[in-house]
Amino acid sequence: MGAATADRNPVKRAVGLHRAVILLGPPGAGKGTQAQRIAKRYHLPHLSTGDMLRDHIQGGTALGRMAKPLMERGELVPDEIVLGMVEDRISQPDCDNGFVFDGFPRTQGQAEDLERICRQHKFEYTIVLHMVVDPDLLMRRLTGRRICKTGGHIYNIYDRPPKIAGICDEDGSELIHRPDDTEPVIRGRLHAYEVQTQPLVDYYKGQGLLIEVDAMADADAVTASIAKTLDRAEAAR
Ligand SMILES: [Zn+2]
Repeated sequence: MGAATADRNPVKRAVGLHRAVILLGPPGAGKGTQAQRIAKRYHLPHLSTGDMLRDHIQGGTALGRMAKPLMERGELVPDEIVLGMVEDRISQPDCDNGFVFDGFPRTQGQAEDLERICRQHKFEYTIVLHMVVDPDLLMRRLTGRRICKTGGHIYNIYDRPPKIAGICDEDGSELIHRPDDTEPVIRGRLHAYEVQTQPLVDYYKGQGLLIEVDAMADADAVTASIAKTLDRAEAAR
């Protein structure tokens, strides 16, 4: 009852950032975790183009009907469709105080389009957090990962080992080392990431929107440093 009363209070304003927050960083840099935490701290939705595609297809919207056959054929959904979904999503009232994206944009073209859409929707300044990680540390994090076969619980043999090697603490299931988490595969992924992302980093840097975040520390320290950065940016607004 108390919560419902508070929600009707017209004086109460949601805490927000009033801007787009974008996380860039290689696989294993902890983007997803940090994006979730930022979303929670500032009461912002954590957006994903994958969710948008699913929602549009399930809802049978015009964009969903265009995307569906392409996805069924395993083809890439073109930027016009993806950007249309993004624009539709950030026009929803829950995005009024800003939103958090990780995994999008992926190309400079998408970044330019997203900036244009943000301006049109009165999001004045985008903040791009570039999560910088030492490649050797990243390799250790990724090759050390073990996943619980039944519950999906995640361990790391170096940083967060299970009590008994190869066994999940939570449910006693077998922990597996995915073939995707081996060194040659990861090296390939990191290289592909760099080739794809460098132009995006250069673009945002050129626009003065890029803030580098040292993502080497443990997750809590990284969250604290990101929060400080965002609070400072919001205070300067
Ligand atoms: Zn488990």
